[in-house]
Amino acid sequence: MELPREILIGDNVISNLGKFVRSINNDISNVVIICGQNVKNRTETIIHKTLHKANLNDYWYIRNEASIRTVAKSKSEIKELEPHIILGVGGGKSVDVGKMIAFYLKKPFISIPTSASHDGIASPFVSLRGTDKPHSIKAITPIGVLADTKLISEAPLRLLSSGCGDLIGKCTAVKDWELARDEKNEYFGSYSASLAQLSATIILDRSTDLLTNTKLGLRTIIEALISSGVAACIAGSSRPCSGSEHLFSHAIEYIAGDSCGLHGERVGIGTILMAKLHGLEYEKIIQALTNLGAPTKASQLNIRESDVIKALLIAQSLRPERYTILSKTKLNKTSAYELAKSARVI
Ligand SMILES: [Zn+2]
Repeated sequence: MELPREILIGDNVISNLGKFVRSINNDISNVVIICGQNVKNRTETIIHKTLHKANLNDYWYIRNEASIRTVAKSKSEIKELEPHIILGVGGGKSVDVGKMIAFYLKKPFISIPTSASHDGIASPFVSLRGTDKPHSIKAITPIGVLADTKLISEAPLRLLSSGCGDLIGKCTAVKDWELARDEKNEYFGSYSASLAQLSATIILDRSTDLLTNTKLGLRTIIEALISSGVAACIAGSSRPCSGSEHLFSHAIEYIAGDSCGLHGERVGIGTILMAKLHGLEYEKIIQALTNLGAPTKASQLNIRESDVIKALLIAQSLRPERYTILSKTKLNKTSAYELAKSARVI
């Protein structure tokens, strides 16, 4: 098991980044920061100041896209900077690129999210374009996670709603894992499954007040995202966090491209569908997503009705070895249509 060692959450904690890096390793000097241009504009002064104060050199590397090509191209350039530690600052993409480069260069990695939109913050998994697999792949577990709630609160609310969609998805992911245990004798980790389930339960139970008490709500969502990442670390696979609802999201991306909504938004819609297949209370999921300002209908993400059906039909084939409710149900065109219609996704 590889788990994050230091986790710091709070308002303005970014100004303590130098100390935070030192607490992880006191014997280093070169820090490479991977981020997008906007994040650099917003954070460069403060990050430079805190690292400089801790006698650390900062080298900034702007990434333009989260693809395996970017990683391949960047890793040799970054290696020349002789980094001792790599930091990924930003939304999902910079964290994923940084995590993958750290994995290739065998350097420790610190995750510094600027939005709470997905659960890759603390997990070893990354989603990169251009790999031969349309789902997430394993890289390195972040040794540290620094989540500045002030910085994250400045991100658009839509990103937070998306994070909630990703978290609610854990309820069908765990159900799929139970199914694989019962029908395929697959290893099932009760502890990691319970931890992932807890992240979903908290969001489902508190969907009405999470966004009204912004400060407490934001912290709860960040903690839930980190905990579900830790659940994946404990399980040693993404099993507790990613089931048929994620396969549906990957399939939509595969068919219609990644402009059809955010990851967590697609996962939220996938969760409604898979909850219905599992016989769970899918109405409760629709209500919670609505309360959280997340979409519940394909049209809200400009996904065509026919693409929803196609996605339901091909989703399982994107990862045949991961047994889910879709492997068991074997939908056809008619039953897929009926499912999407009755769950009011189309
Ligand atoms: Zn996810």
